[in-house]
Amino acid sequence: MGVTAFVNGHVFTGDSFTDSFYVKEGYFVKPGLPEKTIDLKGKTVVPGFIDSHLHFLSAGLYALGADLSGAFSLDDVLSRIKDFVEKTALAQPFASRFDETRLKENRFPSLEELDGVTKNTPFYIVRIDLHSMMVNSAFAKKYNMESSSPFIRGKAYDAMVARLAKEVPFEDKRKGLKEMEKTAFRAGVTGVHTMEGVEKDFSGVDAMLSHQKESLLNILLYPQIMDVQGVTDRGLSRIGGCILIDGSLGSRTAALCAPYADAPAEKGRLYLTDEELFCFMDEAHDAGLQMSFHAIGDRAVEQLVRGYAQLGREAEKRHRIEHGIVVRDEEYRAIADLGLWINFQPMFHAYWGHPGGLYEQRLGPDRTKRINRIKTAKDLGIPFAFGSDCHVTPLDPLGGIRAAVNHPVPEESLSVEEAVKGFTLYGAQIGHDEKKSGSIALGRRADFVILSENIFDNESLGKAEIEKTYVFGYCLYQRESD
Ligand SMILES: [Zn+2]
Ligand SMILES: [Zn+2]
Repeated sequence: MGVTAFVNGHVFTGDSFTDSFYVKEGYFVKPGLPEKTIDLKGKTVVPGFIDSHLHFLSAGLYALGADLSGAFSLDDVLSRIKDFVEKTALAQPFASRFDETRLKENRFPSLEELDGVTKNTPFYIVRIDLHSMMVNSAFAKKYNMESSSPFIRGKAYDAMVARLAKEVPFEDKRKGLKEMEKTAFRAGVTGVHTMEGVEKDFSGVDAMLSHQKESLLNILLYPQIMDVQGVTDRGLSRIGGCILIDGSLGSRTAALCAPYADAPAEKGRLYLTDEELFCFMDEAHDAGLQMSFHAIGDRAVEQLVRGYAQLGREAEKRHRIEHGIVVRDEEYRAIADLGLWINFQPMFHAYWGHPGGLYEQRLGPDRTKRINRIKTAKDLGIPFAFGSDCHVTPLDPLGGIRAAVNHPVPEESLSVEEAVKGFTLYGAQIGHDEKKSGSIALGRRADFVILSENIFDNESLGKAEIEKTYVFGYCLYQRESD
């Protein structure tokens, strides 16, 4: 296969702008006599997007269920479920992204209503926050549930999710992964950092390891399991992801220094003692692993930063803090001094950071002005990258770029260029992968995206769509209207 030249473009390489580039056998190469020339006709091209924090396997499995996110009435919910049950081939059918607060009736269906459309098929509905589910009578019978309530919450919910996950047939897992892959290419995503594994269970990690071998997607795996031996046995060089230092603001389990605005007696909680966390960090450090932890509240970030400080500055490891939604100035300074990276989710503030939104309810107006301070972090010299935390928010880097450029606190907004870097070059760097991916540069994988608009012009950013996604030089997605 000869050289293909892509010319007459408006090409952002991840670092600077150019008008052309060359591809051979899946990689970017030096300009040479092309066998084929593709005229980009002035279109904007960026490196393939990297979502550097998501949960690929579970997001893929949830995507197989009936999607209730667009439903605004119970009639709509029930007819979607009825249609789904009639045609699905899933071993255990279910519906996801259910949010009763968006329905005009503002309630779950009754058990009779749910049974009416699902009949004898065991079925469950997962709430959007992934913290509770409703099951029908056939499901309760299948799983010998003792409670007469159709709702499962708390510890019982976690146990049921773990049980269902074990029962998912291999074929459904494969289907879920294929579905996610399609979603990724449609969104211009060519690389992901996926956080897999629950407690001590490596089955999700192993499923992704085998998928990695057959996928064109650039998959970096973060096992979120506190088992250093299990990770090194698998030859992996990183550990973590959503290893929980604290919980979430939605459920008031994120650890805050000052009480919750809407629950003055509560400050959330730390999931690990100093001793547990620091011992684990020592062990991972001795094994030479890059580390990564989920910390949302300022008290959690404080504990985590103290742990990293004990290891001393080792910027070359690029240790990570995931989310870092509420962070005090002193921790930002320590993060900068220690050379730690933060992985932000810009869609979080787009979803929950608006006036009157979830963050303001939980944190009050003052603290809400200080969430996801991306520009502050950048100005302090803190390296960062972006992710969606999919299935929590959709896999949609263009949406993430818009959110980073239009922060609810205008001083925290980034330029489009910096926001694009958060989903390209910086995404590669936070995974030590910048020599292979993240930019349109010599020797990197020829992963790139052709956009419908010039996103570097703020006006056009809003309406931009993915026109084509190239992976290893192959066009694996093309917008239908083309
Ligand atoms: Zn997390
Ligand atoms: Zn996560």
